[in-house]
Amino acid sequence: METLLILAHVEENGSLGRPALEALAAAEALGQALGAKPVVGLVGADPGAAAESIGSYGAARWLAAAGPEFAQPRYATDAQAAGALAKAAGATVVLAPATSRWSRSLAGAAQRAGGRADTHITALNVENGKLLATRWFYRQRIEATLTRAARPWFLTLEPGCWTPWSGAAAPVVLETVAVEAASRTQVLGKKAPQAGEQTIRPDAELLFVAGAGWTKKQPDGRVRLEEAAELILSFVRLTQCSLGSSKSLVDLSSEGETVLPFLTHMNQVGQTGSTPRHPKGLATCCHGEEPHTVGWRFIQQRRAVNLDPNCGWARGKADVLYVADAFEVMAKVNQLLSK
Ligand SMILES: Cc1cc2nc3c(=O)[nH]c(=O)nc-3n(C[C@H](O)[C@H](O)[C@H](O)COP(=O)(O)OP(=O)(O)OC[C@H]3O[C@@H](n4cnc5c(N)ncnc54)[C@H](O)[C@@H]3O)c2cc1C
Repeated sequence: METLLILAHVEENGSLGRPALEALAAAEALGQALGAKPVVGLVGADPGAAAESIGSYGAARWLAAAGPEFAQPRYATDAQAAGALAKAAGATVVLAPATSRWSRSLAGAAQRAGGRADTHITALNVENGKLLATRWFYRQRIEATLTRAARPWFLTLEPGCWTPWSGAAAPVVLETVAVEAASRTQVLGKKAPQAGEQTIRPDAELLFVAGAGWTKKQPDGRVRLEEAAELILSFVRLTQCSLGSSKSLVDLSSEGETVLPFLTHMNQVGQTGSTPRHPKGLATCCHGEEPHTVGWRFIQQRRAVNLDPNCGWARGKADVLYVADAFEVMAKVNQLLSK
């Protein structure tokens, strides 16, 4: 019989983030399949409010590693908290969302507990009472299902693969677990890449992918870079979508070509870029296999705008292909969005 522990850290604003809610949903479903209610383990300065916000979750126990030392993401204290919570729960399986915080610290906790860790898990199943975990290998080209005899088994769950848990708030009695938290690392501040146009934002509803076509000579014989930049940025700001790019477009800058200056390799989707999991995707001026297959293979609803009706990738891989001029389409879309 497995004992499940689901770990979640409290966000800066005191709430639980979407990846945590998705992991709670995964743990709930796994608990039902295994016939074991999950133990919830929360980490943060004061996780009481976060616990109450999910108070109607059917947990076997509510554990917390609480105190100012757990307010900041830090390998040492997070690994110690995870280890102490796993021990207090008597956990054989420990689930946590693959946030940067848990991705950094969970393998250390597994090592100290004499257990094993697997990462980037995209599905959990039970067959003949045995837990099976699924993940992708080789840049999302091979999907494998793993099982292990070793316990405790620590698993980080990839965001975007489960519908977030939702339920009513309710009072919760938290058992505070004593953690010997010691670290030589002091968090003095945070330097992060600017969110927004400059990176893929996994929490956005829509991924907009810009291809090299935006920078090419257009049917009127002109290159219309400033207009392209204006159309793309307006759309991103109006919809708060995530901005992706093909490799060809971001590579142009390293070749000294005039390009859209706000796009970098941080935006690149595809085999050598990222493979995000937004619910919707819109590719514009892209021809390649990468943006249409590898780059958005996990995008659930895919649409493309391309001048070329014979673009095999857009035709084959998009749910809807608009054979149209992206300059005209996006100008009209922005106009409608601004109303
Ligand atoms: C090892 C390796 C790794 C790679 N990794 C990646 C990767 O991670 N990500 C990636 O993206 N690529 C990657 N590539 C490159 C990839 O194979 C393609 O070359 C690239 O994705 C093509 O980029 P594109 O579609 O933006 O440009 P293009 O192929 O130049 O296509 C531009 C398209 O824009 C259309 N267009 C032009 N004007 C308009 C308009 N006004 N309205 C509508 N449509 C218009 C054209 O019809 C054309 O179809 C990799 C290649 C290799 C060899």
